[in-house]
Amino acid sequence: MADRIVIVGGAIMGSSLAWWLTELGHPASAITVVERDPSYAASGTAFTNSCIRQQFGNPLNVAISRFGVDFIKTFQSRMDDPRVAPIHFHPFGYLYLAGNAAEADRLTRAHAVQIAAGSATRLMTPGEMAAKWPFYDLDGIVLGSHGTEDEGYFDGTTMFDWWRRIAQGRGVTYLADEVTEIDTIGGRIRGVTLASGAVLGADIVVNVAGTRGAQVARMAGLDLPVEARKRYTWIFEAARPLEKDLPLTIDPSGVHVRTDGATYMAGATPDVDPAVDPEDFAGDWAMWEDKVWPALATRIPAFEEIRVKQSWVGHYDLNVFDRNAIVGHHSDLPGFFVLNGFSGHGLQQSPALGRGLAERIVHGRYVSLDLAPFGPDRIAAGVPFPEDAVI
Ligand SMILES: Cc1cc2nc3c(=O)[nH]c(=O)nc-3n(C[C@H](O)[C@H](O)[C@H](O)COP(=O)(O)OP(=O)(O)OC[C@H]3O[C@@H](n4cnc5c(N)ncnc54)[C@H](O)[C@@H]3O)c2cc1C
Repeated sequence: MADRIVIVGGAIMGSSLAWWLTELGHPASAITVVERDPSYAASGTAFTNSCIRQQFGNPLNVAISRFGVDFIKTFQSRMDDPRVAPIHFHPFGYLYLAGNAAEADRLTRAHAVQIAAGSATRLMTPGEMAAKWPFYDLDGIVLGSHGTEDEGYFDGTTMFDWWRRIAQGRGVTYLADEVTEIDTIGGRIRGVTLASGAVLGADIVVNVAGTRGAQVARMAGLDLPVEARKRYTWIFEAARPLEKDLPLTIDPSGVHVRTDGATYMAGATPDVDPAVDPEDFAGDWAMWEDKVWPALATRIPAFEEIRVKQSWVGHYDLNVFDRNAIVGHHSDLPGFFVLNGFSGHGLQQSPALGRGLAERIVHGRYVSLDLAPFGPDRIAAGVPFPEDAVI
């Protein structure tokens, strides 16, 4: 008999996993996705900026993005469903700006990793950048790194929606309920108990609970170094719009900004960045006034005159151990799997990580891409598998 699988959390990563499991032949009737809030209103997926980049420092993350971009571009044929249209992709590229020699050195080392993996990243002098994008003030900038292909915005919401709808159409059950207990017997998974009081038997439970990943792990008596951290987004229009697309520019100040249709989208990591309640959505207008807008106007003088149209607060599920995904089987509890801790790059990783964990569950091993370095056991062992290019 096929393993009965409960997926805790049905947003983009849980739905990618559900779809991939069915794609690899796991019986859909043996898969249940439990989602506490089917509106997904407080999920990381709802507040994402929905971009994909090749510019990581860790080769495995570059390989994951290589597959991610291929998946996005071939989404329609992969879904094999006449209702599915191509996923919109707007490749404006990311532009990392280095303000000192140490940062330039990091970009140069990451560039070598990216080129080796087949990405089209280009290191640029300030003169080359000024010629291509005359709107920048590059005072104090020593080097730039631009993704000339396969980086930009993609419509992750539509991808998520189709994964969920097609998985459901194939027979996967989505339950609107909350997992409140993880049940074990003889030191292995037996199932879950839900807020409604229902009990589901399961051989495998997968923790895909986003910012609540540590809370769900604790139900199994396990620690997961994942915290909800606020991330702010502002949409603004400029009195003098730029004459061409603004790459997703990562300024040394930590502020990032990009083209967003006829408007622009900016974001930043707060200087003080505590763990917060996943339901805490209070904004921070002072951060816009004191940090973000001044940084924007310094780097792009045309942004002296701008008007904020919309802003929101979302949460990263930040892996505070090494800022990289935590994926795989937890050897302290047979049957318990983790798919969590994406630290701000989970949307673009959802095709590869959903596929990888589905392979691990269905075939007992990784087939396409070896995700073993992301295994949860690295945390107990104290051996980081870091990603330093976290935005
Ligand atoms: C402002 C912002 C910008 C971002 N920009 C990008 C970007 O440009 N590119 C990129 O790749 N990534 C980006 N990300 C990150 C990306 O959005 C997330 O990594 C991704 O959406 C995580 O998806 P998830 O399904 O793992 O978690 P979530 O979307 O957080 O979903 C987890 C789900 O689990 C459910 N759940 C939790 N506990 C339980 C329980 N006990 N029982 C049942 N259900 C439960 C929740 O209700 C939720 O729906 C951004 C994130 C933010 C906040």
